[in-house]
Amino acid sequence: MATVRFDNVSRIYPGATEPAVKNLNLEVADGEFLVLVGPSGCGKTTSLRMLAGLEDVNEGHIYIGDKDVTNVQPKDRDIAMVFQNYALYPHMTVRDNMGFALKIAKLPKDEINKRVEKAAKTLGLTQYLDRKPKALSGGQRQRVAMGRAIVRQPQVFLMDEPLSNLDAKLRVQTRTQIASLQHELGVTTLYVTHDQTEAMTMGDRIAVIKDGILQQVGTPRELYDRPANSFVAGFIGSPSMNLGRFRVEGEHAVLGEARVPLSAATRDALTSADNGQIIIGFRPEGLQIAPEGATATIPLTIDLVEELGSDAYVYGHLASGEQLSISDDDDSSDKFGQIVVRVPPHTAPPAGNVMHLQIEPG
Ligand code: ATP
Repeated sequence: MATVRFDNVSRIYPGATEPAVKNLNLEVADGEFLVLVGPSGCGKTTSLRMLAGLEDVNEGHIYIGDKDVTNVQPKDRDIAMVFQNYALYPHMTVRDNMGFALKIAKLPKDEINKRVEKAAKTLGLTQYLDRKPKALSGGQRQRVAMGRAIVRQPQVFLMDEPLSNLDAKLRVQTRTQIASLQHELGVTTLYVTHDQTEAMTMGDRIAVIKDGILQQVGTPRELYDRPANSFVAGFIGSPSMNLGRFRVEGEHAVLGEARVPLSAATRDALTSADNGQIIIGFRPEGLQIAPEGATATIPLTIDLVEELGSDAYVYGHLASGEQLSISDDDDSSDKFGQIVVRVPPHTAPPAGNVMHLQIEPG
């Protein structure tokens, strides 16, 4: 069983003051597609490289199946890695690139050919087997890099931003191909990206990392609906969740003229340590136009409307002038207090108008 387990793993680079990865505890199930996601520099690549044996582990243990591989040579870990830059050999054909690792491992020629041809068929590369990488498109090169990993029939795939050199449209196509290929092959996979959309669409589960520390692991749905903290709330979802610090007044949370009803469960959960303050998060699709006469509303002055065809995004700010922000833990937000609302197409009044919105208490 190719489960992968990080057991309290830390990595501190020589001369660094903070660990790049701190006390990582993470278990990946056999056959699972797990995505590591987080902002640049949060420790994703370091985690993957420790699993590959390319980076020292300063503390803790890494297991593949029941075997402690913490001090095992990279070549003996039975994993295959796909990198961002593909690292194809330019002077070799696609066939030789894909079969190279097997040749080094001294597999019989027949077996190499059989595996390369099978992988080429799976990846739609059969007609390109005799070409050199320079005569391929970016997407085809990316598939050769995948093919090279597949033919090794490893226990674990590691992928580090494998789509980042592709244009936007090809990225979308290729990410669905990789996800379905992984399910077909059933090989345990760890996939690194900083793109939350990639994480949401590809992962069976997602691990969100910030500053070397694991914030939350869960299915895309769990992270979207039940983020463990305001960082995950702001990081997962596009456009980002609107987050603001409100004051509790009786049955409502209040910020300027904005009033949000609080459920009894939320009010019961408040403690004196909250000091009458509460962070309210609402997704762009979690707001509706308030009915006439509603008292608990969020009056929004519209700055800009973006019509996207299928729906529209309204960008605005609180009409009473307060900034929607959570200041201290808000480095995921670049909205400067702006609120984003998703509405049906061509329903939003033009910029300068005020919309009265309301949030479902749930
Ligand atoms: P990105 O998305 O930008 O690739 P990442 O999440 O993969 O980022 P890492 O590459 O794991 O992040 O880096 C984590 C931290 O460790 C960063 O602060 C980085 O500067 C530092 N770091 C990475 N490699 C080294 C190294 N060889 N020596 C010293 N510090 C390093």
